Amino acid sequence: MSREKNDSIQCTIHNCVHHAQNADYCTLDRILVGTHEQNPTEKECTDCDSFQYKIS
Ligand code: SF4
Repeated sequence: MSREKNDSIQCTIHNCVHHAQNADYCTLDRILVGTHEQNPTEKECTDCDSFQYKIS
């Protein structure tokens, strides 16, 4: 399965079902970025909430 990459969303998470695989981009039209922290202060505090684990 190969879907069109979204040039506006670069991503290196190949384990996600939405990753383009043949290039480091997401295939979604848009993503939701969120946090698992009460008070995010570093990039490690942020998450892609659109991530879905790809079972290979
Ligand atoms: S949904 Fe998030 S983690 Fe998944 S490919 Fe898109 S940007 Fe990357």
